[in-house]
Amino acid sequence: MVGNVRQLESLFSTFSLELASASVEQLEDTIQTFIAQVGSELEADRCYLLLIDEATQTLSTSHEYCAPDISPQSDAIQDVPMARFSWLAEQLASESVVAIPDVEKLTPAAAEEQREFRRQGIGSLVLVGLRLDGDIAGALGFDYVGRSVSLENSEKQALEKLAAILGASVHRRLLSARNQRFESSLYRYSEQFPGVVFQFRAYPSGRMTLPFISGRVEDMFGLTHATVKPDATPLLDRIVPEDRKAVFAGIEKSAQTLTPFEIQFRAEKVNGEIAWIEARSVPAMLADQSVVWHGYFFDITQKKTAESEIEQLAFYDPLTKLPNRRLLRDRLAQALAGSTRDHHHGALVFIDLDHFKNINDSAGHVVGDELLIQVGHRLQQSVREWDTVARIGGDEFVLILKGFSAGSASAATKVEKVCEKVRDALNEPYSLQGVEYNGSPSIGVTLFYDHDASLEDLLSQADMAMFRAKEDGRNCIRFFDSKMQSDVSERLAMESDLRAAVRREQFSVHYQLQVDESGSPIGAEALLRWQCPGRGMVSPAEFIPLAEESGLIEQVGYWVLEEVLSQVADWQRRGDRLSKLPVAVNVSAKQFRLPSFCTTVMALLRKTRASPRNLKIEITESALAYDLEMVEETLRTLRSMGIRVSLDDFGTGYSSLGYLKRLSLDELKIDQGFVRDILDDPNDAAIAETILALASALRLSAVAEGVETRGQLERLIQMGCKRFQGYFFSRPLPSAEFERLVEQPDDGRSKMTR
Ligand code: C2E
Ligand code: MG
Ligand code: MG
Repeated sequence: MVGNVRQLESLFSTFSLELASASVEQLEDTIQTFIAQVGSELEADRCYLLLIDEATQTLSTSHEYCAPDISPQSDAIQDVPMARFSWLAEQLASESVVAIPDVEKLTPAAAEEQREFRRQGIGSLVLVGLRLDGDIAGALGFDYVGRSVSLENSEKQALEKLAAILGASVHRRLLSARNQRFESSLYRYSEQFPGVVFQFRAYPSGRMTLPFISGRVEDMFGLTHATVKPDATPLLDRIVPEDRKAVFAGIEKSAQTLTPFEIQFRAEKVNGEIAWIEARSVPAMLADQSVVWHGYFFDITQKKTAESEIEQLAFYDPLTKLPNRRLLRDRLAQALAGSTRDHHHGALVFIDLDHFKNINDSAGHVVGDELLIQVGHRLQQSVREWDTVARIGGDEFVLILKGFSAGSASAATKVEKVCEKVRDALNEPYSLQGVEYNGSPSIGVTLFYDHDASLEDLLSQADMAMFRAKEDGRNCIRFFDSKMQSDVSERLAMESDLRAAVRREQFSVHYQLQVDESGSPIGAEALLRWQCPGRGMVSPAEFIPLAEESGLIEQVGYWVLEEVLSQVADWQRRGDRLSKLPVAVNVSAKQFRLPSFCTTVMALLRKTRASPRNLKIEITESALAYDLEMVEETLRTLRSMGIRVSLDDFGTGYSSLGYLKRLSLDELKIDQGFVRDILDDPNDAAIAETILALASALRLSAVAEGVETRGQLERLIQMGCKRFQGYFFSRPLPSAEFERLVEQPDDGRSKMTR
């Protein structure tokens, strides 16, 4: 070659400095100058830089210098598949400098290359490989058009050195292009992403920057893209003050442990709207000890709103907006823990509205709902802000009161004061749809302290106390005590025994004679008996109310009806005195109000073939307490079937006498309470007399129950009573004994004539 090696050496020292100090932007020009100077120094016709695209395995000319009158080739050598020049590629891979002194003398393996060189009119050429990380990344080439030039060893060494400094610059250029491509594609992709993609950097000095953030930041925070880059402060300032501490603590922790940073926070947009943002990012430590996170922000406002709606539904009563049973349990658990921690007493208060069902049934649900809402308000106003007011269903409210002193007596006094305040508040008249309503609550209270009872225990204790308040006449406050507990346990035990009683055939029916004024049998009352192993004979007065409360009454009542009607049918078939005796069956209000009651009776009559004439139904006044239309309907149906109906224990309830006229009744039974003291208590006597007069006015028959003495009987006869039932004539008897009693020639008659 013709180049001067010393000249080449001096070019090397000039350019190694220039290339190294050039910024990425200046690099293009510096490389171009380098190529032109080296090319002309070596008197080449062309000098050029070929680069290999790793991804596509193609070859392109990036820079070219041409001597005067030489045609440039850079446009032709673009994206040429490497596979075309496989011989040359092999040469470059194995040799640092490939010199081809005579194109015409190339081996047949280089036929393709030869064709290309000839096309360009090249006589000889030199290619110096550029390596990146050991791999060929390109080549610096020198063409000699129409002439043959050979390379000396010293020149070769100089070229290798030049190629090395050029290689380093090409590397820089490549990396920066790659970065640019990466950033622009990141930018492009991030625009597709529904969130905001960011790179966040925290320096040891405390400075925080956003070297990259995608354009959607404008939608999410209302900040323009330009204001948030690179200083992160304007964006961080949008975090609402309440959440700031948590966010910075999260960043700090993530930086220290180099674990992903994930947090949800609220940000105030520039327009004042509050958005819920989720941030997720992964940190990496850089050489300068700064930490860089790559991640994204996501707007989760809608999700949060939906969540809070779900929470509202799951934990709050939709009507009153008060906490529901679930949340109550949470709060109670917290209160229990708090009591242990702070050594304070707390109280759980159950509140049930008295006669709520009546208002709901008579005035409708809208009015009932209105009452519940107002009660909720009053309760909230009666307690302190840290107490809980919950509604756990129907007309049941619960309070958790907290923070009473450690002494249990003084705590109880204070709790009672609060409960009295609550009761007073609920006793104030309500205005429901413009109508005044007066209501009262029954309140049950249990105290808790230092985890002395479990959550379940407390709930059932307060419930028990509330029931006691109801039993004690309503509008009362009752505190739980251990006697209540044992009563309740006993009731529960009895309930479970009662459940088994039907199955185990522990029930039987006794019959008590009813007589007329001559002492002749005119009927019988069927009275249920429960022979319970371990309890002995349990009085129906005890277990019938329990059966009613536990819902067992339907089953028990059915059994009684079937048993009695079978017995009645049996007696009918004998055709003697027994066959004419109507038998009265007690039907509890709950059973009587069942929509299926009449059809059940009808079905049993058919099944047993008993005559409806021999059946009497005894109901108490409580069966008439509300929904009189339905009661009338049932009574009419029974009547039309030929069944008689008797009103039991008459005079003890609060029924209005007015509607007695409307109802299809046959008989009133004077309660035994009035009969008992008829001789000593003028009031009772007066009531008995009034009932008799009323019955006669309404053309109903009247039966006096509980007649125990001749004196009572005579007084009742004096008053005009014609029908009697009581121990004076006979106790309730098992059916066989009852049969003997009725069939003996002298039944009750001797009692009348003595
Ligand atoms: P009741 O229907 O008023 O029945 C009269 C009660 O007075 C019966 O009590 C009877 O044994 C009792 N008795 C009768 N004569 C006298 C007397 O001279 N002196 C006294 N002190 N008591 C007398 P019993 O059998 O304990 O029944 C109590 C209540 O249980 C009944 O009152 C009735 O309401 C209810 N009952 C009884 N059997 C049934 C039944 O099969 N179904 C339903 N639902 N309730 C029933
Ligand atoms: Mg009765
Ligand atoms: Mg009675």
